[in-house]
Amino acid sequence: MRLILIGPPGVGKGTQAALLESRLGVKPLSSGVIFRAEIEAETDLGRLAKRYIEHGELVPNGVTIEMMAKRIRRDEVRKHGFVLDGFPRTIRQAEALEEILDEMGMPLDKVVSIEVDDEVVLSRLAGRIGCTKCGEIYHSVNKPPKREGICDKCNSPLFVRTDDQPETILERLRVFRENTAPVRDYYREKGLLQVVDGRHEPEEVYQEIVAGVEA
Ligand code: AMP
Repeated sequence: MRLILIGPPGVGKGTQAALLESRLGVKPLSSGVIFRAEIEAETDLGRLAKRYIEHGELVPNGVTIEMMAKRIRRDEVRKHGFVLDGFPRTIRQAEALEEILDEMGMPLDKVVSIEVDDEVVLSRLAGRIGCTKCGEIYHSVNKPPKREGICDKCNSPLFVRTDDQPETILERLRVFRENTAPVRDYYREKGLLQVVDGRHEPEEVYQEIVAGVEA
């Protein structure tokens, strides 16, 4: 399966990518997760990305494309397929991805746009907590962990993303509308787009995605 998940921050892309991995073995490639790992490891790329991420802005196309191209070209991705979460976020990135996949002879199956209103995004992100190790996502009100600050799944510490602050969230929504909404239209024109209602429960969204890919 070769999928892209598009949607505003907090719509549930990461949750769906994790479900697709655990149930179907598809490799999740999340640009945001990869950037955060680079920041944690204090690499040159991490230091560069941090400046943009902290302000809710996009990391420049050149370094982002290079970073993702390296991962997409890996053998395990060729073998098991992928679910891209957070990439491509600009038309330039979408064009670059097309070149990489053409070269590998791996066409996309579907591009899933998960859609919700801004108010839903704001309330979800305001309480979002993530696991530092396995990436499981919690919410302080809607889905609290059993023990405060500890992941139910792997017992690692939980954290709140530095870019999940109110002003940064608004900037990320603006950036999404300006740069990433056109990417959705780009794939619609190519006949690859499937729209899913992100207000539904994660299980329902998952079933809709799988049914769309199989259709
Ligand atoms: P995410 O975890 O997908 O919400 O991404 C967190 C942040 O990482 C974004 O707000 C951007 O600053 C940066 N980022 C992630 N993916 C991309 C991308 N494809 N292009 C540029 N910046 C990105």
